[in-house]
Amino acid sequence: MTKLLEGKTALVFGVANDRSIAWGVVKALHEHGAKIGISYAGEVLKKRAVPLAESIGSTFVEECDVTKDEDIAAVAEKAKKAFGEIDILVHAIAFANRDELGGYYYDTSRAGFHTAMDISVYSFTALAAAFQPIIRPGGSLMTMTYYGSQKAVPSYNVMGVAKAALEASVRYLARDFGPQKIRVNAISAGPIRTLAASGVAGFKNLHNRFAEVAPLREGVTIEDVGNAALFLASDLSARTTGDIVYVDSGFNIIAIGDDEAKSP
Ligand code: NAD
Repeated sequence: MTKLLEGKTALVFGVANDRSIAWGVVKALHEHGAKIGISYAGEVLKKRAVPLAESIGSTFVEECDVTKDEDIAAVAEKAKKAFGEIDILVHAIAFANRDELGGYYYDTSRAGFHTAMDISVYSFTALAAAFQPIIRPGGSLMTMTYYGSQKAVPSYNVMGVAKAALEASVRYLARDFGPQKIRVNAISAGPIRTLAASGVAGFKNLHNRFAEVAPLREGVTIEDVGNAALFLASDLSARTTGDIVYVDSGFNIIAIGDDEAKSP
């Protein structure tokens, strides 16, 4: 097998457990020869992140709470010491309080809005800035988004607004980083049962309905997202930047389910 990431180094943020999208990305990048560093949110997740990192022979496993500037600066400094420069940065982090992920969007609190924006949007920009000095030309930054940024999805609420801002951030960052020959993209994944997803009211129904309606009639896995991340991380995507790559069995291109429209 041709390894697409031989000689490249990747830092992946957002591994909570082996169901995390970040873990699907780590597996794909590792399989293709990338040297991997992993970052997790805090002490509670350490017991999950460390064994996962060990299972792929990664020794760089660092805590970073992205609400703290000092944590971001510290992890960038540690990465510089450990790797010198890096090629790939993956941001697979989001958070909103459970209260905000159900009911009416207009009930979003000011504090809840700030939290969702800070952790789910600003953190990607902050990481991009902190790592900018050590990302090699030809490098790739990516984040994870969801279609609730484009259309109003039940219960997704403030997170949909955050994802819209995250996708706009991708475009602005792509402009900023382009002259350094560094790409910035997002993957928009269909619903996957993860820890973060379990916070969205009615997610189970949304997840089940998805595979019935999507053109490919199949749900999305963390391995599917990992494969798209591999493309965005590798030189195969050398001329793709500022883009949103859908990994959603085609869900985003339809307006109404076949069962509702009674089409052949
Ligand atoms: P997950 O719960 O496994 O991952 C979310 C991660 O965010 C966790 O590792 C968590 O520790 C981290 N995080 C939260 N607050 C943090 C903080 N302050 N500092 C550092 N890290 C913090 O769930 P996931 O579904 O794998 O989510 C990863 C990304 O994929 C998110 O951006 C999510 O919105 C996006 N996404 C998920 C789906 C889905 O259906 N699961 C679909 C599309 C996009």
